[in-house]
Amino acid sequence: MSAGAVSIAPRAIQAARGTPAPKIKDISVIESQPAGVRLTVVKITTDQDGLYGYGCGTFTQRADLVRPAVEKYLKPFLLGKTTDRIEDIWQSCYDSSYWKNGPVLNSAISGVDQALWDIKGRQAGLPVYDLVGGKTREAADCYGHADGAENAQVIDAIKGWQARGFRHVRAQIGVPGMAAYGTGAGGTTMQGLRPGPVFEPAYYTRRVIKMFEAVRDSLGFEIELLHDAHERVTPNQAVQFAKDLEKFKLFFLEDVLSPEDIAYFRQIRQQCATPLAMGELFNSPHEWTPLMSERLIDYIRVHVSQAGGFTPARKIAILGETFGVRTAWHGPGDVSPVGHAANVTLDLVSTNFGVQEYSPFSEKVQEVFHGCPVMKDGYLYANDAPGWGIEVDEKAAAKYPFGSNERGERQRLNGGWGEVRKRDGQVIKQ
Ligand SMILES: [Mg+2]
Repeated sequence: MSAGAVSIAPRAIQAARGTPAPKIKDISVIESQPAGVRLTVVKITTDQDGLYGYGCGTFTQRADLVRPAVEKYLKPFLLGKTTDRIEDIWQSCYDSSYWKNGPVLNSAISGVDQALWDIKGRQAGLPVYDLVGGKTREAADCYGHADGAENAQVIDAIKGWQARGFRHVRAQIGVPGMAAYGTGAGGTTMQGLRPGPVFEPAYYTRRVIKMFEAVRDSLGFEIELLHDAHERVTPNQAVQFAKDLEKFKLFFLEDVLSPEDIAYFRQIRQQCATPLAMGELFNSPHEWTPLMSERLIDYIRVHVSQAGGFTPARKIAILGETFGVRTAWHGPGDVSPVGHAANVTLDLVSTNFGVQEYSPFSEKVQEVFHGCPVMKDGYLYANDAPGWGIEVDEKAAAKYPFGSNERGERQRLNGGWGEVRKRDGQVIKQ
């Protein structure tokens, strides 16, 4: 060891404050539904006075299952452990269930993982983005959702986002009588051979092509347009659909295949240049790794809590940097503001950031979550406070228990989704 290294060591110890690492004293689950979806946040409290952190563990369609995964399994496993070894805790939590890569367990681990990053930031007095290398950009360029039953409504909605400064907009159109994704049925509801919502993919693809013709005719090519197929077409329809959309020069076409059909991405890739986004339903590295390393998609769209939190998401971002795949983290209303803070942190620190999906934070959401990222002119800005910069008002959260903003079928299904079928009665992916 050189003399220089010996002389630096005591100063390094001093800089680390010489204080013992905090220990996990308690883990609790905060459940709240201030807007339309059930949000789950994990809170880790340490043995050091006033030092705690929050992590997003939201899995809104099976929300009630995350709490017992945290309370009955992760909490006894983690109590008394120190908070400093985030990677080690992530790996040991992941491995301790033996069977893994499911949305409930990954969401529970995400809650713990992000709470530990929050604690580390609060300890250091730094936002998480500074813990992992600092900003590579000032703010995250976002896209909003423009929906309508008819072309004119979609065009007006896109103009509304443009007026607010947005440069990227996702466009979705209804199909008369059908339960199209992202927008209402419009007109008379079509009757299938079984009761309930009906969807036929061929009607949908034809209508979307006409919608983009109308939008480009009206608004030109300066606005970046996105579209989410929500895995509702067959693999061969997906190939044709991506080819038909090529001339409209989309920013990306999202989820044109389901996770079960991802082998078909190669066929799409071979036939057109439509940029492809995929991944909000992914839970496992076995899903995203081949698509990214074989350069079969352009944007990785993982839902960060479904993948297990900030720690694995950072690795996904770095994998994307290696293979030229950009990030577009899933960011609708079914991510808590803590999760949105993790998203925007990834956006800021990843050189291969693509775009961020944006969902406005309602007044009620901001009543529960203080310090939400701030939207200005289509850019989302992170809070500069230590950790994620978010404080949860637990009294306000308790005012909105699960189910408080649900009606009808959603409420009957305990926050879950119902079903959509083809006219002949076959159930389809949503
Ligand atoms: Mg989507």
